[in-house]
Amino acid sequence: MYTKFQAFLQEELGQIKEAGLFKNERIITSPQGATISVSTGQEVLNFCANNYLGLSNNPKLVQAAKEALDERGYGMSSVRFICGTQDIHKTLEQKIADFFGTEDTILYAAAFDANGGVFEPLLGAEDAIISDSLNHASIIDGVRLSKAARYRFENANMEDLEKQLIEAQKHRFRVIVTDGVFSMDGNVAPMDKIVALANKYDAMVMVDECHSAGVVGATGRGVTELFNIRGQVEIITGTLGKAFGGAVGGFTTGKKEVIDMLRQRSRPYLFSNSLPPMVVSAGIKMFDMMNETNELQDKLHANTDYFLQKMTAAGFDIKPTKSAIVAVMLYDAKLSQDFAAKLLDEGIYVIGFYFPVVPKGQARIRVQLSAAHEVEHLDKAVKAFTKVGKELGVIK
Ligand SMILES: *Cc1c(COP(=O)(O)O)cnc(C)c1O
Repeated sequence: MYTKFQAFLQEELGQIKEAGLFKNERIITSPQGATISVSTGQEVLNFCANNYLGLSNNPKLVQAAKEALDERGYGMSSVRFICGTQDIHKTLEQKIADFFGTEDTILYAAAFDANGGVFEPLLGAEDAIISDSLNHASIIDGVRLSKAARYRFENANMEDLEKQLIEAQKHRFRVIVTDGVFSMDGNVAPMDKIVALANKYDAMVMVDECHSAGVVGATGRGVTELFNIRGQVEIITGTLGKAFGGAVGGFTTGKKEVIDMLRQRSRPYLFSNSLPPMVVSAGIKMFDMMNETNELQDKLHANTDYFLQKMTAAGFDIKPTKSAIVAVMLYDAKLSQDFAAKLLDEGIYVIGFYFPVVPKGQARIRVQLSAAHEVEHLDKAVKAFTKVGKELGVIK
């Protein structure tokens, strides 16, 4: 059998390569940070990590993880409900709830699992899920696993959402689901309007804060802070793998009964291993740091404003953003690849995105800012963008 299957896979892989869609992994030989070393020996400035608060290699988090290794061991060898729950797991869950102003939290191995395991236990065939068209793949998969009816609205389009809500009135329960920040444009979901529509049409709201938690809102509490709607969203999902230290881990936080039910019935929670103590302890340390100071959030916001202002002044076409994601629009797929390659020669590591990751004719370079960046890093990036932009005729 395998000979036939092998030929089939080789053929498919060949097609992916031919279409120019084959993903090669660049090998990094240093810790994650503003400056990284790559396997060619080159040192580059990193502008494509989700390391929004610069915590991926934070000495205090590393220390907390080391202490947990010594005191609590390496792994749990159990799911949570058998013998995989240490006191620190409960502490971290409470810290996350305090951070978001919610009632309780349930941890997962990843946000992919949090989203994969949230719909099926809560909603049945009588219910409806109304989902933004640009929601993350893990939400799409989670929705597929539930028996609820599916409705889709155009990205952040409130007229379309209202239309779908009217259609969905025939169902028992309705939930509107959206990313907080959309990863390709950096735009924020209009949460104030979404909550207002939810109230008008008797629906619940779920938001995925993966790219917004730690990033948006004056103190980085995410979109519920940005729109002053803390406590008004029933379900929030998020990751420990982006702004919050970048290791691994996900969570769902929200109403008490929702979390209680997920602990009983959510399959990725019931049937997958507990988070390792070092990740949990570093997570606790991270949320304690967030409560002590707003330094990192302030620096991230200042960096983002500075970069946006300089890039706009240089003449680049930039998508409106409210997050730490800056989409530099180039429109042409090949141009985006050439541009990113030339930037790498200048020591700036960014990725050019094109169809099917973004719509056809919407190719771009996505820049992600971090609190780890210093002003000289930003200046160097703007200078490199300007040089390459002129060479390639993107700006004058
Ligand atoms: C990154 C991301 C996820 C997945 O997070 P993991 O913890 O890495 O599984 C889910 N949703 C959104 C919107 C994301 O950006």
